[in-house]
Amino acid sequence: MTKDSLKAPRLKEFENQVKTCTKCPLHKTRKFPVPGEGNVDAKLMIIGLGPGYHENLQGRPFVGTAGKFLDELLELSGLKRGEVYITNIMKCYLPKNVATQDEIKMCTPYLDRQIKIIKPKIIITLGNIATSYLFQKFNLNMQTIGRIHGKVFQVSTLLLQTKIIPMYHPATALYNPRMKETLKQDWKKLKFYLGNI
Ligand code: URA
Repeated sequence: MTKDSLKAPRLKEFENQVKTCTKCPLHKTRKFPVPGEGNVDAKLMIIGLGPGYHENLQGRPFVGTAGKFLDELLELSGLKRGEVYITNIMKCYLPKNVATQDEIKMCTPYLDRQIKIIKPKIIITLGNIATSYLFQKFNLNMQTIGRIHGKVFQVSTLLLQTKIIPMYHPATALYNPRMKETLKQDWKKLKFYLGNI
């Protein structure tokens, strides 16, 4: 049995742990935890902040309005949902769309495990919170998303070779429609990097 054939069962076991997690108070207000979903062999992993109203009701990431726009952005880069793996920093509903530092600390070991299992060649972080968590984890110099969106940051550790590409969160364009074009341009450029992995 190869290491890769163990990916699916390891991911399943991981999902079961998230589904029964009671480590932080957010478990009390969730309906369904949202561990993440997608292709276990995905070359690309997308990381948002945390489940909103619709995600909480369905137990799936990015199924609301921001998710519809994310689907459009994926299409611009030539990708389909089924080819990528999508998850969040936080696995339970964020009623105010905010997570405390303590909640982030308690939840992110789950994300760390997902990254270890999937071993993506490219990680897209959506928005400031996801970007700053990954930048800290891999000792990169964090700047505002306005300065680093669409840029490529190489990560090379003993266990992982990947590229982190920070992007604006798709919800940004819903609050500020003038940003839509910037997001689209960033995602179109992704085609180039995908062609090289
Ligand atoms: N916003 C996020 O950051 N994640 C989701 O899953 C949905 C909306």
